[in-house]
Amino acid sequence: MEYNITLIPGDGIGPEVTSAAVKVIENSGVRINWEIVRMGAAVIEEFNTPIPAYVLESIKKNKVALKGPVTTPVGMGFKSVNVTLRQELNLYANIRPIKTFEGVTSRYEDVDLIIVRENSEDLYAGIEHMITEDIAESIKIISKKASDRIVEYAFKLAKEQNRSEVIAVHKANIMKLSDGLFLKCARNIAEKHKEIAFGDVIVDAMSMKLVMNPEKYDVLVMPNLYGDILSDMAAGLIGGLGLVPGANIGEEGAVFEPAHGSAPDIAGLNIANPTACILSGVMMLRYIGEAEAADKIEKAVEAVLKEGKYLTCDLGGTTGTQEFAEVVIEKMAK
Ligand code: ATP
Repeated sequence: MEYNITLIPGDGIGPEVTSAAVKVIENSGVRINWEIVRMGAAVIEEFNTPIPAYVLESIKKNKVALKGPVTTPVGMGFKSVNVTLRQELNLYANIRPIKTFEGVTSRYEDVDLIIVRENSEDLYAGIEHMITEDIAESIKIISKKASDRIVEYAFKLAKEQNRSEVIAVHKANIMKLSDGLFLKCARNIAEKHKEIAFGDVIVDAMSMKLVMNPEKYDVLVMPNLYGDILSDMAAGLIGGLGLVPGANIGEEGAVFEPAHGSAPDIAGLNIANPTACILSGVMMLRYIGEAEAADKIEKAVEAVLKEGKYLTCDLGGTTGTQEFAEVVIEKMAK
């Protein structure tokens, strides 16, 4: 079987990390016909938008995409490219697994949690205006529909992965209506899934708990903004952004992308860590039902990191982006 999958190389280190991931995926035995579409800063001059219509058409047709980071040019009046993509394709769940790797120096051992971030509303709805010249207002939207859907997804994921607990993260003590609604929805949905433990923690307390004992947590589900902040923070717990993959899941398709941004400071130098992008490819393979190939890649990445001989510079080594991919491919062959 051959799959049609959209490939978005993206900006900055995007083309380097996606080409490393593609190389690894192609050596896993799965046959993919990549439909390469360009978006982001590189196409603005040509199309007068960072998201030309062909990008959305390609993803809607193929239902699955692997995407490198894409930057939104600041001060040119464009809405965030990533937020637009998520909204246009209704990719309502953002999933980021945060796991410690043997061989990677970090302050913690045995972290293995998943952040499930609501991806469609909250302050990201983009509704803001000036009330007077000196006062701006941003509107936070929390709906029952989106809250039910994301919490339901968190429980589904917990069951699929044999996890034992889901925690809803919120600030309902202050935002009694908006976060209050999110919490009420979470509690209702939890009633339907009694076999999985459920709890809720206020976002500030959660931040402290994660820094103190991250290994205690399993599946965390939260509105958009808290998810954005806590997932970057959690990446720091395990050795940095170069290691954290991500998936944006919707009812009609999914876009897989590393948690990191375009890192313009290291773009074009062949030094970026492609692990996050390779592992986003692993999540993609599982999504399309190619679990065996996914396991093979994941095990090879883990083995290379554990060995510690070939590490990229963010992890204290000198191995280049493409060389790292080659080493993973060699490891898969063994
Ligand atoms: P953007 O504006 O697209 O979000 P950014 O540079 O502000 O990009 P990130 O790219 O997410 O933010 O990350 C911040 C820094 O972390 C980068 O400047 C880079 O030094 C480092 N970094 C991020 N991703 C990687 C990676 N894959 N490998 C090595 N270092 C990375």
